[in-house]
Amino acid sequence: MRHHLPNGTFRNTADIEEPKLRNPQTRLSDLVRWKLTAPNAKPLTQPVVSPDIDSFNNDQDARTKIIWVGHATVLLRHQKLTILTDPHFSDRASPVGFAGPKRSTPPALSVTQLPHIDVVVVSHDHYDHLDKQSVLEIQQRQINNPPLFVVPLKLGQWFSNLEIDNWVECDWWEQTTHMDWRFTAVPVQHFSGRSLKQNNTLWAGWVLTLPATAENESYQIFFAGDTGYSSDFKDIYDRFGAFDLSLLPIGAYEPRWFMKELHVNPEEAVKIHQDVHSKLSIAIHWGSFALTHEPMDEPPKKLAEALTKQNIGPDNFRTVKHGELVLV
Ligand code: ZN
Ligand code: ZN
Repeated sequence: MRHHLPNGTFRNTADIEEPKLRNPQTRLSDLVRWKLTAPNAKPLTQPVVSPDIDSFNNDQDARTKIIWVGHATVLLRHQKLTILTDPHFSDRASPVGFAGPKRSTPPALSVTQLPHIDVVVVSHDHYDHLDKQSVLEIQQRQINNPPLFVVPLKLGQWFSNLEIDNWVECDWWEQTTHMDWRFTAVPVQHFSGRSLKQNNTLWAGWVLTLPATAENESYQIFFAGDTGYSSDFKDIYDRFGAFDLSLLPIGAYEPRWFMKELHVNPEEAVKIHQDVHSKLSIAIHWGSFALTHEPMDEPPKKLAEALTKQNIGPDNFRTVKHGELVLV
C-alpha cells in the first residue's frame, strides 16, 4: 500500500509538502515561526446547553440522535448502537495537566453522565482527539461491559499500554464489523504523533455503515476526524456512495500557510460535504480549544458564508451548540 513507507511510518495520499511533515528540523522551525507570527486566538467560551439525555436514550424514538460534546467528541445513537467519537473530557489537550491548549468551553457532559457506549471511534492520536484520562475513565466506568475501541492501524498498542485490550485496528479501506455495523477506516489528509516522532501510527476518517435488512433501512455516517482538503473525499464517495450524516471539522485553519494541508477551513468543509454527498453535516472541531490563530467564533460565520455561496441551506450543514441534541 502506497501510504505505508519502508521505515514503518505512514504518508498521505497526495504528495503534499512532505518536508513539513517529515523533517523534524523543518517542522520545528515552522512551529517556531507559527508561534511567533501571531498568538493563538483569544479563548472565548461558547454557549453550552445541558444535553437531553433522556431523549437521547429513548428507544421509542427511531430517529438518529446526535450530541456534540465538544471539539471532535460526538455522542451518537442510531437505533440500538451508541457511539462516541474522539473522546475528550479533560481541561487541556496536552500530555500534562498544567500546560498546553486549555479548554475554553467545558464539555457538555462528563464521563459519568454518558450513557452506555458500545463503540468508541478514534481518528488519530493527537492530544485534542485522544485523551488518556478520558479513555481510562470510560473503560473504568464500563469495566464489566467495556466499549469496543475502533482505532487506526498501529494505535492499538497505546491502548494495550493502558491495559485496555478491547480494541480493533483498521488500515485505510479495511473494515471491522460490530453489532451489525461496518466500521471502515478511510484516508484523510493529516498526520499523527504525540511527540516529535511523527506518523508512526495511522490517522483516519471513519465510515460507519448499517446495511439494509428486513427491519432496517441502510444508514451511513462519515466521521472525518482531522483533515486538510484532498481528493480522498471523492474516493470515499466513489467507494461508499452518499452519506446520511457527516461529522466535519470546520476550525483550526489559520494561518493558512501552516494549516492548509492539515486542517480544512469552513469553505473546504463545505467541499467535503459536497464531495461525499452528505444529506446532513454537523460542524465539529471548533469553539472548544484555542488551538490556532483564527478567532474562536469565526468558523460558524465563515461556514454560513460558504453555504450561502454554494446555495446550501443551513439545515443541511448545521452549526450546533455544545450539548444540543439533534434529532434526524
Ligand atoms: Zn490532529
Ligand atoms: Zn484536531
